[in-house]
Parts: sequence; C-alpha cells; structure tokens
Amino acid sequence: MTAPAHPRTTDDLIRAEEPVLAHNYHPLPVVVARAEGAWVEDVEGRRYLDMLAGYSALNFGHRHPALIRAAHDQLDRLTLTSRAFHNDRLAEFAQRLAALTGLDMVLPMNTGAEAVESGIKLARKWAYDVKGVPDGQANIVVAADNFHGRTITIVSFSTDESARAGFGPFTPGFKIVPYNDLAALEEAVDEHTAAVLIEPIQGEAGVIIPDEGYLTGVRELTRRKGCLFVADEIQSGLGRTGRTLAVEHENVVPDVLLLGKALGGGIVPVSAVVARREVMEVLHPGEHGSTFGGNPLAAAVGTAVVELLETGEFQSRAAELGLVLHEGLTALLGHGVTGFRARGLWAGVDIDPALGTGREISERLMREGILVKDTHGSTIRLAPPLTITAEELRGALDTLAKVLGQAG
Ligand SMILES: *Cc1c(COP(=O)(O)O)cnc(C)c1O
Repeated sequence: MTAPAHPRTTDDLIRAEEPVLAHNYHPLPVVVARAEGAWVEDVEGRRYLDMLAGYSALNFGHRHPALIRAAHDQLDRLTLTSRAFHNDRLAEFAQRLAALTGLDMVLPMNTGAEAVESGIKLARKWAYDVKGVPDGQANIVVAADNFHGRTITIVSFSTDESARAGFGPFTPGFKIVPYNDLAALEEAVDEHTAAVLIEPIQGEAGVIIPDEGYLTGVRELTRRKGCLFVADEIQSGLGRTGRTLAVEHENVVPDVLLLGKALGGGIVPVSAVVARREVMEVLHPGEHGSTFGGNPLAAAVGTAVVELLETGEFQSRAAELGLVLHEGLTALLGHGVTGFRARGLWAGVDIDPALGTGREISERLMREGILVKDTHGSTIRLAPPLTITAEELRGALDTLAKVLGQAG
C-alpha cells in the first residue's frame, strides 16, 4: 500500500518523514501543528506544555503578539536587501542591541553557529592586527564539554565524540581546558592566544553552572594576559537566567558576546556578534559577510525582541518563576531526582537512572502533556518560555513528580 499523498495523523506524518528526511535527529513522537504562548497542539488536537521552548529560541513563547506584529508589518514593507545596500531597519537594531548588552558594535548573522564562526574569525583577526601574533599562529582556548554548534570548525574543538566522529580533518588552533578551572586556563593561555571562548553556563552539557567567581576570574585573566573574552550566550542570554545576560550574575562584561536563538523571537533565525569598538573595527569591507545577515525582517523582529527585554519584565519573570522551579525540584530530590542545577527559568535535572533514561522520562512526560528533551544520559533540561505562568509551571512539576513516581 502506498502512503497517502498528504498524511495528517501522527503516525503517518512520522512515517512519511523517514525515507525523505536526513536522520540527524531523533525527535519525540509528537507532530506539532500549531502553538501559542507556552502551549503547542499536535495534529490530533492534543495540547502540550512546551518545557523546552526551542532550546531557548522561544523565550517569549510561541507567536508573542508584539513579535508577530513586528514581523507582519515588516513582511508588508521590505524583507531582504542584502548588505549591498542599506536598509532602514538595521541601524536601530544594532543601536538598541549594543545598548542592551553594554557593548558598542554589532555584526548581524543568522544562526548561532554562524555567530560563533564569526566570533572566531573576529578574534583571530584581532590577534594578528592588534595583538601582533605571527600570521597563522593564533590559538583560542575553549572548555571541555562545550556546545557551540555544528560546523567543521566548531566540532573541531568539541569533546563530544558523536559530534566529531567521521567529520575530520579538523580545524587547528584550539586548546581545550576543563570548564570551571581557572588554573588550567592560566596555564593554557599563552602569548599567541587570541581569545578564551566559553559558555557562561553550559546548556547542552546539562545546565552546568560554574562556581561563583569563575566568570570574574576569566575576565581578570584575559585582561591581564591580553586576550579577548568571548562569551557564547546563544542559549544562556536574553532573559533565560533572570538577567539579560548570564555574565551579569557576576557583573562581567566580555569583549565579544555571541547571541542567537531567542534573538529571532522564535520567528526567524537571527544571531549577532556584539563587541567592543576596538575589536569589531578590525573587520573591513570584503573580509566577512552573509547574504541574509541583517536582513530587514530579521532586524525588525530582533528590534522587537530587544524592546521586550528593555522593559526588564521577562528577566524578572525568569528570576521569580525560577524560585518556583527551584522549590519544585528541591522537593523532588530523593524522589526520582538525584540532583539538579538551576538558574532563573532554566534547569538541568538528573533523573535516578533506575527510573529510566532521560529519553524514556521525556516520552512519559510527553504522554502526560509535557514536552521536554533529554540532554545527556539521564539528564533532562527544563527551559519553558518565560511567559509561562506560575500555575502552569507548578502543574508541570506535579506531572514530573507523578511520572517519576510511576517510573521504573
Ligand atoms: C544552540 C547553540 C549554538 C548554535 O546555534 P545554532 O543556531 O543551532 O547554530 C551555539 N552555542 C550555544 C551555546 C548554543 O546553545
């Protein structure tokens, strides 16, 4: 029997993907058809609370009215110019994003990986042009268990074998040190080091929060040794942790900031490198670019995102709801949860392996109307939209308690 031309049920749609879609993901068996706020609905009309929020690309929830309005208005006027010409949306986006982050200049890109690649190019160029590192000899120091994206250069300095195996040869010029280890960093940074590139909180690794003082230490060390501090806040930034940026928890300002995910409001891919003027000014016409980077639709949505963050409302919500999350998870310690790390509305939760893998727990939660995704082994990540209500969050925690009570 042949498959229906336009399958509409969950099973049919999943089966229809199989022969035509690359198998680089293993999604939960739910087929989402519509969404609003913190809720999504599948093709059969079942509703789920979205506790993943597109890996924090949906910090403002699905289809936030102000963001949808900005996108619609822009769709009706101008969508793409390329950077061969100016467009009337880009100046405001860059100006407001720089002001929001306390830095000076913006390089607009599209995906997170592109922002990371651009940050690496920027740091290397700075090392040669400003620091005076001999040509071809710059190195960048990164942390073990990092996640910075999926390009060849980025997986070159990953420590996750499944991200690397089969993709060599790799890009040279990176040194890997343990995360949260200032002594190791001190040893690794040398006279040819262009930058230290780290996540202020390691999201994919399981929401790993460094010790108090680590980020301050990285700032002090990079300044003293004369290299750049590049902070990848693609997942940790833009409200998630209860502050605009995770580095703000230690009042640290990096030289270069990488943003993505939520910057596109869950509508379009928008990323950016934001940097101090002296750093960004090493780039000249023809040395770097992107056809879609800084397009007017992205700039309009990005500006609307920055506008939401300028009020401080979402950062406060994340901080306040973070207390609810923390309290709920604390109550589950010893009841199926062996440990957790949380900051703001973001948590990595270690499930007792006796109760099942992270994947199995995720599937049980899905059947109870909660969408989450496992990170590593038996760790699940909770990162709902910052628009979720306290009641919805408590409901999700109750469901988690129920699933853990039944599990195993
Ligand atoms: C998601 C992510 C990236 C890569 O972003 P893409 O848009 O998937 O390319 C880079 N760094 C961090 C910290 C991320 O979470």
